[in-house]
This record gives sequence, structure tokens and C-alpha cells, in this order.
Amino acid sequence: MSDKPRVFVTRTIPKAGLDRLREVCEVEVWPKPKPPRRDTLLDKARGCAGLVTMLSDKVDETVLTAAGDDLKVVANYAVGYNNIDVAACREHGVAVGNTPDVLTDATADVAVLLMLAAARSFTPAAASVRDGGWKTWAPMDHLGMELAGKTVGVIGLGRIGRAFADRCHGGWGMKVLYTANSPKPDADRDLGAKHVELPELLANSDFISLHCPLTEATAGLIDANALHQMKTTAVLVNTARGEVIDQDALHTALSGGKIFAAGLDVTTPEPLPTDSPLLELPNCVVLPHIGSATVHARSGMALMAADNVLAGLRGDPLPHGV
Ligand code: NAP
Repeated sequence: MSDKPRVFVTRTIPKAGLDRLREVCEVEVWPKPKPPRRDTLLDKARGCAGLVTMLSDKVDETVLTAAGDDLKVVANYAVGYNNIDVAACREHGVAVGNTPDVLTDATADVAVLLMLAAARSFTPAAASVRDGGWKTWAPMDHLGMELAGKTVGVIGLGRIGRAFADRCHGGWGMKVLYTANSPKPDADRDLGAKHVELPELLANSDFISLHCPLTEATAGLIDANALHQMKTTAVLVNTARGEVIDQDALHTALSGGKIFAAGLDVTTPEPLPTDSPLLELPNCVVLPHIGSATVHARSGMALMAADNVLAGLRGDPLPHGV
């Protein structure tokens, strides 16, 4: 048996990252298209010095105990790390890393994609061409919302929220309202953005985009009460995490005309069951969590995850530590 440290990678990631790991480690990659089942993850983690995990892998006390004392580092292949019990990792002396920045532009682009698609009824309009529902140019069909000069509310003006706000302000001259833990003087100066309380953002925004992490404070943040405070013409976009929205309340709001439309890259659960009532709504666009799905972002994430593992194995601070 090799005396190299063992690393388990829970899905196939771009080769550049795996090659970097293989220079130093004995690497096992879970080869299947679906994530390893829980019992498989526990089994594969046993004796590993490093784990490269996806947002679909829950890393908690049980996984850490199963892995044993050799485990030095968990490198999450994502910027969000709500799937990892960071406190438990600390107690076990396991470093935790993530992959910020490299996916910021890709994810902000998907937020724009969803904003436009939801605002302009992209899904039913495109479907009507394919299914023959489109009979002739129609003056009253598929009437949507314009972006120019409107107000966008960004919930969580961090890396991705700021990149999204830049696109909205630079592209369509939109006014920017935002919430965050603290004001962002750069955004206030560069974009004329305004840090507000959530109710003010909900009541005054034509477009609302979620870019906060999933935490205890943000789980269910967009509930029936929040949806009720939005304009009836509002378009809601979520590229953060599905759990930030109460999906039953969203369905009620969308089907009852309480808001205009929604675009979701993330849902609860993922994938959304094909019989989910949300998928029956013409004013709800749903994507399969593709925010970071560009060649550039995913390759960069692979290298960052590899660098995190290698630093963790050496006992150095992670270059992209949580
Ligand atoms: P980030 O730079 O840490 O930004 C998060 C922002 O949320 C920060 O500005 C933070 O405020 C703010 N925030 C925290 N708690 C809040 C609350 N209760 N209410 C309002 N704002 C709050 O993170 P990021 O790199 O932009 O990523 C954001 C999230 O996007 C990730 O956590 C992940 O869940 C999601 N994501 C999804 C995809 C995808 O494929 N769809 C890809 C990448 C990331 P402060 O700055 O004041 O602390």
C-alpha cells in the first residue's frame, strides 16, 4: 500500500485539480454521476487525510468520527459551506476550505440570466415556439418587465452580490438597494447604492436577487410575509441557496399574482421533483444549480480545492480557508 496521504474526492472534478493532488496524494475519485450515499461517504472517508467535498455532501460529526484521526483537511468544492459543520471540524482539528472569487462572475451572470428570463417570460415564450402554441405575432402575449432605470434589491452585497449589482447598474442604469451585515462604502460610492433594512428593500425593489449565505439567520428569510411586502410586479431571483426561500409561500405568491415572476438556480430539494407545483407555473424559471458551471470557474475551483488540501496536509494555513 502507498504511504502517500489518502484523499477522497466525492465527484469527478476537472483534471487539473486532480493532477495537482496526485503529485502528492493517493487520490480516489467517486466516479458516478450521483453523489456517494451517506454510508459510502462514511466508508470512503475512513483513514483519509483529506476530503474534497461537494455541496451535496454533509460533513458533520459522524463523517469526522468515521474518517478518524488522520483527517487534516476538508476542501469544499464550492464557496458556500453550509453543508459543513465548521465548528465540529475545528474540534477535530480539521481545516476547512472553500473556493471563493473564481466563481463570482459565472454566478452573477446566471443571476442576470434568471432575471431576464423571468422578467421576459422566457420559458413559456420559448416553449410556445416548440409546441406550436405560437400562431402569429401577438400584441398582447408574453408581456414582461423592463430593466432600464428600475430598482434592484440585492440581499447580501458580498462578492457575487456586488458583481450582480455592477451588471445591473452598468448595464441598465438600475438603482441599487442592498442588505448586508455591514454597509459597503465602495458600492455606495461607485454605484450610488444604498444600505437599507430588509422591509425597505422588499417594498421598493422591482427586482430582488439573493446573494447571502445560508445560515440560521437567512433560512426562510423570504417567507410569506416577505413576499407580501414585495411589489406585485417584482421579479425574485435566487442563486444563493434554496432554503433561503419558503417555496410553498413562493408558489402561493407566484400563482396568486402577488409577485410577477421568479428565477431559481437553487431549490429545496435539489433536484426539484418533476411533479413539483413550482415547475407547473409559467412565471417560474428553474435551473439545475449551474451558477458556477463554466469551464473557467470549475477548473479554478478544482485548483483551489487541491491547493487547500495540500496546504492542510502540510499543516499550513489554507490559501482559501473558511
Ligand atoms: P460573500 O462574499 O461572503 O457574500 C455574502 C454576503 O451576504 C455578504 O455581503 C454578507 O454581508 C451578506 N449577508 C450575510 N448574512 C446576511 C443576512 N442575514 N442578510 C443579508 N445579507 C447577509 O459570499 P459570495 O461569494 O458572494 O457567495 C454568496 C452565496 O452564493 C454563497 O454562500 C453560496 O451559498 C451562493 N453561491 C451559489 C452558487 C450557485 O451555483 N448558484 C455559486 C456560488 C455561490 P457582510 O459582507 O456584511 O458580512
